[in-house]
Amino acid sequence: MFGWQVITILGFSISIFLFSFSLIKKHYLTTLQSNLINLAKTLNLKVIPLLEKKQFSELDLLVKNLDKDINTRITVVTNEGIVLADSKNNPKTMENHKNRPEIKKALQGNTGQSLRFSTTIKKEMLYVAIPIYQKGKITGALRVSLFVEHINLLLNDIKFKFLQVTFIIILISLLISLIFSRNISKPIKELSWASNEIAKGNFDVKVNIRNNDELKDFADSFNYMGQKIKTLFTDISQKKKELNSILSSIREGLIVIDKEDRIVLSNNSFKDIIKNDLIDGKFYWEILREPNFTNLIKKVKNNKVNTISEIELGNKIFLVSVTQMSQSEETILTLNDITEIKRTETIKKDFVANVSHELKTPLTSIKGFVETIEENIVDKNTIHYLDIIKRNIDRVINIVKDLLILSNLEKKETKLELQKINLSEILNDVLKIFEQKIKEKHLKLNFDIEQNIIINGDPFQIEQMFVNLIDNAIKYTEQGEITIAVKQTDSSVKIEIEDTGIGISKEHLPRIFERFYVIDKSRSRKLGGTGLGLSIVKHIVLLHNGSIDVKSPPKNGRKGTKFIINIPV
Ligand code: ADP
Repeated sequence: MFGWQVITILGFSISIFLFSFSLIKKHYLTTLQSNLINLAKTLNLKVIPLLEKKQFSELDLLVKNLDKDINTRITVVTNEGIVLADSKNNPKTMENHKNRPEIKKALQGNTGQSLRFSTTIKKEMLYVAIPIYQKGKITGALRVSLFVEHINLLLNDIKFKFLQVTFIIILISLLISLIFSRNISKPIKELSWASNEIAKGNFDVKVNIRNNDELKDFADSFNYMGQKIKTLFTDISQKKKELNSILSSIREGLIVIDKEDRIVLSNNSFKDIIKNDLIDGKFYWEILREPNFTNLIKKVKNNKVNTISEIELGNKIFLVSVTQMSQSEETILTLNDITEIKRTETIKKDFVANVSHELKTPLTSIKGFVETIEENIVDKNTIHYLDIIKRNIDRVINIVKDLLILSNLEKKETKLELQKINLSEILNDVLKIFEQKIKEKHLKLNFDIEQNIIINGDPFQIEQMFVNLIDNAIKYTEQGEITIAVKQTDSSVKIEIEDTGIGISKEHLPRIFERFYVIDKSRSRKLGGTGLGLSIVKHIVLLHNGSIDVKSPPKNGRKGTKFIINIPV
């Protein structure tokens, strides 16, 4: 700051000095010239009488005497340029002056001026010449001149004084500017030091400025800001500590990755899962080289849809939940170890499958023997009891059959026998099974299907799905109609099976796809239900990547139930 001020002050002072000095010099020379003209005019009065009397030697004497008094060279020249008198020289030895510029002008009737080198005296001189009139005619010229040397001496004296004043002004200005700069830069330096301290984390610094000016306001605001940052920082640190202790206390592994795929936060459980402690700041794919995991994160990042999926890491199974944070573009992942749960689930499923399998044969043979016994019995009571036994055996056989179907569907290795299947053909076959029942119950069947709707599916499973749904529709409808509609849309086939039966009340709707979930146990038992039909349907739909929904009542003003299935094509 001071440096710039020095440059500015010096620049201004030098320019002012040069400008004013040249002005003063010009003014001085102009005044000098007009004084010389006046002097010449006064001298003229003395010179003319001597010229008229032709007393040239007196004239020469006169100018020499005057020169001594006024220290000015005086020359008198005729109109032909002959020097008649000169205060510094012998006029007789001097050359003709007709062509001297100032004399030339004077002889033309004007005032001549010239600043030039004198060939007579060999010095630089300032000349002023005026015409001499005698009886209205120009008879010569009177010239007065000064040594430029003298003028310069005088000017140098002025210049020196001027320089002294300029120098003093510069000194005073510099002193003022030094004090001013110090006054400004000191608090600024203090503020800059305090900012550095705050940046280093020392929030207790304070800036003390005694002046009562804008900088004081600034310093006060700065101190307030420092205090505010300290409070916020303490708050954030506290919150961070809390967050860290929460994160380390949760059992699930947790990481947060930024949009560049770097891990910005992780908890101990996650580090334990992957058996690596140095993960913060690394790319997630550097530390977890599992394609399923990478694909899952990529899918969530691209589609911006949060997802939960089961992933095997090593010999463990994890439920991985991936959540995309919309604002910060960070992704949160939690890994929940479900290996044990999965193991128990598999044991249970295997157990059910084994038991069902083991029960199937003895049950069928029991049923066969009961039927044989029944043929040989005539006692009505015994026949009645045998009927009850037969009905119950049928029920158990149905349950076992459904359980076997379910466990087959649930088996991980279950592969669909995918082939192009014509839905109208399958539905026609299924409806044949129910023709008799529909007739018995006097139900009306509406069949709305476009011909040749083809899907990629497993024919046995799709048939099973229709059997279960249509069987339910007939079972739970006492009168009215059953409507089956199949429509092709752009990306899927929509199947709707609707009845006008007893319907399903709201509170049961979310649970009817659960295993063994029946609304009215005695009714279901009477109708030969097992509570597994809809579970099987849902499994089949999911295996075909479809979706199933149920509406009761079906929103068309009628009673009843409507199942809607979408299967992608
Ligand atoms: P169930 O073998 O008992 O029919 P499901 O799993 O097929 O077992 O069905 C579960 C329950 O859902 C049934 O007990 C019944 O109460 C109800 N349900 C299923 N379909 C219908 C329907 N079309 N109308 C009314 N209730 C139904």
